[in-house]
Amino acid sequence: MFHKGWFINSALQDRKPKTKDFELTMPPTERLYYADSHLIEFEARVIDKTERVSSWTAVILDRTAFYPTGGGQPSDTGTLDGARVVECIDDGDNGVLHVTQGRTLEVGSTVKGRVDWPRRFDHIQQHTGQHILSQAFITLFKAATHSFRVLDHSCEIDVELANPTSEIIEKAVSLANNVIWEDRPLTIRQVTAQQAADLTLRKESTREGELRLIEIDGFDLTPCGGTHAYRTGEVGMIAVRSWERAKGLVRIEFVAGMRALDDYRVANKTARNVAALFSAGRDDTAPLVKRLLDENKDLHRRVRALEEIASRVEADELLANAAPDASGVRIVSNIAENLDGEHLKRIAVALIAHPKTIALLGSR
Ligand SMILES: [Zn+2]
Repeated sequence: MFHKGWFINSALQDRKPKTKDFELTMPPTERLYYADSHLIEFEARVIDKTERVSSWTAVILDRTAFYPTGGGQPSDTGTLDGARVVECIDDGDNGVLHVTQGRTLEVGSTVKGRVDWPRRFDHIQQHTGQHILSQAFITLFKAATHSFRVLDHSCEIDVELANPTSEIIEKAVSLANNVIWEDRPLTIRQVTAQQAADLTLRKESTREGELRLIEIDGFDLTPCGGTHAYRTGEVGMIAVRSWERAKGLVRIEFVAGMRALDDYRVANKTARNVAALFSAGRDDTAPLVKRLLDENKDLHRRVRALEEIASRVEADELLANAAPDASGVRIVSNIAENLDGEHLKRIAVALIAHPKTIALLGSR
């Protein structure tokens, strides 16, 4: 099975040491996704490749539209000519490593790259959705986002929110969705560190030199190297699935775009299935489930009371069939079918309540 952590390490460790000449002549990979997040087809030249175990090859191109794993966003997948791109890794100044399977690509050849659009678009929706939601928490509650992760079916942000409640969080969700439906444009701005110092950015950048800022018109300005929507409307909608306090922050699980629709479908199906068990409407089940649980508790209490009575009756019957010996002691021995330990114990307690009585009970 493909293990991401292992591969990233081995991919970096196995890279051939570059000669000084190669370092001088090899230009850094031009990152086409910086200029256009919706570009999915491109041509590029193979400038380096490293063979791997299990038929994996790491390919470096002179330019790429493939986004490598980083900033909480998973990498793109796709194809380079006939080869499958299963992962892309940012190797800093060396460029972007395209981990490929299948056809071998020759160094110096020109290849056609194609990024898997459904996956890229999903990441655009989640990532842009995060910008909007994080700014909504700042706007309403001055609550900064500390980290962001795109998971398989949802996303997480860790927010510095002092007094979290579902009501407060839903206020931020409502603001975020309004910003989405206002269909505001996003623009990319290249600024110097000095220019950035005069701007109010949502978060500080750790990068030096020129900064790439993502601006959501009239709402958010933040440094970021990821792939974003052209307009907020592309995000579709944002919904929060759950939240919890975690390490002094509030961990909020959310879904954006298609993931929100998928999540709605699952939640709706679950709610309808439960409702069908009660022959009730989808939104009427919570009080019905509560009533069922209360009734169940009452029934358990009544069953226990009846079992007490039954045990005493059974004990009386056993006692009536056991004749006392010369000294007046009665030994009651019985092997029952399918009685649990609790039931046996209750009969035994009822028996030994009588003087000079010994109970020997068992169950098959
Ligand atoms: Zn971003």
